[in-house]
Amino acid sequence: MISIEHIRSICSGRIAISEPLARMTTFRLGGPADIYVEPATTAELIALVRTFRDGDLPFLVLGNGSNVLVSDDGFRGAAINLEHGFARATVDDDVVDAGAGVRLSSSGLKGDIVLSARFTPPRGDIESMKRRRKDLLLKRNASQPTAFPNAGSIFKNPEGGYAAMLIQECGLKGFRIGGAEVSELHANFIIGRDNATAADILAVINHVRGVVFSRRGVVLEPEILLMGFPDNALLPISSDSEGVVA
Ligand SMILES: Cc1cc2nc3c(=O)[nH]c(=O)nc-3n(C[C@H](O)[C@H](O)[C@H](O)COP(=O)(O)OP(=O)(O)OC[C@H]3O[C@@H](n4cnc5c(N)ncnc54)[C@H](O)[C@@H]3O)c2cc1C
Repeated sequence: MISIEHIRSICSGRIAISEPLARMTTFRLGGPADIYVEPATTAELIALVRTFRDGDLPFLVLGNGSNVLVSDDGFRGAAINLEHGFARATVDDDVVDAGAGVRLSSSGLKGDIVLSARFTPPRGDIESMKRRRKDLLLKRNASQPTAFPNAGSIFKNPEGGYAAMLIQECGLKGFRIGGAEVSELHANFIIGRDNATAADILAVINHVRGVVFSRRGVVLEPEILLMGFPDNALLPISSDSEGVVA
């Protein structure tokens, strides 16, 4: 049993019990983490990880929360947020050293905790880069449902194909359960409408997997991390699994 006093003694950043995670995810839904910590230094992070490991408490790093679905019941473990203690970025000549708390597309690496990454971005004219960034954002806003909470692509692209195309071909755009809906704009996005729950999103995920497998024989694997769900949250799929959820 890990005591909160012990956690306080090794972490100078914010510590919270039963911390709501919904506002820390782009889906804006889901329940609380039992323990929430914001380590301020690498030494604190290492001490926390040791404590959680020794105490058999599941833990994971939450970055920008743009690739996770947190269950409505929350996460029975510790959520570690690096945004506060690790948000520095330095530029030395052509090399950018970005801490894990810097909001970059971090690729959601699994296994080890990523503390920083080093990049050598191409040099260019700042005005043309700003224009390019604006163009890319406009393009993204036209092709992705940015007006609604979402977590980007829900499924990985299967080998040799596109998840969005398969979902669209199965006529699932606009398919809805509760407040969760397959986006009309991009079939690999699920959006949360008013009062959407994590259970609604999961139900749509299961339905889409069932239909795509039944009609196209392709197993879609989630791209997003399911956080705080039981191991059997993803329903088994078989050739007659269409409509198993709906
Ligand atoms: C509108 C929208 C568009 C998107 N478009 C793209 C896209 O074009 N391409 C793309 O690849 N993704 C895309 N995504 C998905 C997502 O933004 C990326 O996968 C992003 O890199 C996830 O980073 P995060 O910090 O939000 O991770 P989180 O959602 O916070 O975490 C995701 C996983 O990474 C782990 N993790 C987070 N930080 C660390 C760390 N420091 N060390 C170890 N593990 C860590 C977490 O434990 C979790 O397992 C999009 C998302 C949205 C909402």
